[in-house]
Amino acid sequence: MTDVIGLARSLIRLDTSGSNESFAAERLAETLRACGMSVELDTLDAGRASLIARSPGCGPAPITLTGHLDTVPFRAEDWDCDPLGAEIADGRLYGRGASDMKSGVAALVVAVERHLARVGSGGPGVLLVLTAAEESGCEGARHLLRGRSLPSGGPLLVAEPTGNRLVSGHKGALWLDVTSQGRAAHGSRPDLGVNAITPLARLAVALADEGLPGEHAVMGPVTVNVGTITGGTRVNLVPDHASMSVDVRTVPGCSSTMLLARLKALAGDAARVRVTLDVPAVYSSPDTAFALLVAQATRDVTGEAACAAPPVTYFTDAAVLSEAMGGADTVILGPGDPEQAHIVDESCSIDRVHQAVEIYETVLDRWSARGMAC
Ligand SMILES: [Zn+2]
Repeated sequence: MTDVIGLARSLIRLDTSGSNESFAAERLAETLRACGMSVELDTLDAGRASLIARSPGCGPAPITLTGHLDTVPFRAEDWDCDPLGAEIADGRLYGRGASDMKSGVAALVVAVERHLARVGSGGPGVLLVLTAAEESGCEGARHLLRGRSLPSGGPLLVAEPTGNRLVSGHKGALWLDVTSQGRAAHGSRPDLGVNAITPLARLAVALADEGLPGEHAVMGPVTVNVGTITGGTRVNLVPDHASMSVDVRTVPGCSSTMLLARLKALAGDAARVRVTLDVPAVYSSPDTAFALLVAQATRDVTGEAACAAPPVTYFTDAAVLSEAMGGADTVILGPGDPEQAHIVDESCSIDRVHQAVEIYETVLDRWSARGMAC
């Protein structure tokens, strides 16, 4: 059987910060083929591939497990440890992706390996989807779905970092570029020009004062943040161009079309709005049969009362995959620490990685037994 920490370390040593996920996919494909899974790689660019693996006898409604193989970039000079060193100290594994989310991926793979060794091909089956290019807006998951459908009817488990707490969803992200075009003139004669900054400044103030409508009982309100604003070239020129980027975090039941229309109304005719990213929100009731089973498995493995964690602040591939699976019951649970994601000297508790393997195994065994009983 594969050693989960050894596997996580080998993944961290591969630099997959925005490229080269193929190496990780090929490394994992070997392990998965060895335990009887059929594996396909989906190449979206040179050196960039996602992996999709099916257990033998995988039925029409398998349990789908997912994680991503890419990481965010790093500047090695800012780190005290080697970001690709996969060093171990004080019970923690260090390196880029330790928490987000190579430990989670390794735990999924090892849990599947152990489950298949014990249970074989019975039950509804297991589908493992390990994606490239998640960090840039779920591009790998979207590419994977071009010309390929995922089985619907089964649940989805996402191994993103939650500290092994059960999370029921996340907000969506709607990122916008807003630009305005003016007319240049000498700074001493603003009456002869059209200032391109003014409409964007008004919009920024309106967004800060009024926000955008929408609220979810668990996730809270839609939020909006003006991330950047640029315009003009010199103090004595009327600027003829300005641009602004806006990050809207959406909630279920609040369509990005409606939010976009509201923002366009606030922006007025002087501004043009372009969508750069639109990832829907995900929310699944914690009372579904799957969520209850995961909660029980977590309780049994950790010995801790299963308290559902609040929705996480990041988005995940579930935004794309859950929809493609017909709105699958979704749970996010992984060994990484959410507060360690994307930071310098990223690390993950080794105990939690072992714990995650046990939780996933228990979930697979019980879901499979349940499937056979139905
Ligand atoms: Zn992640």
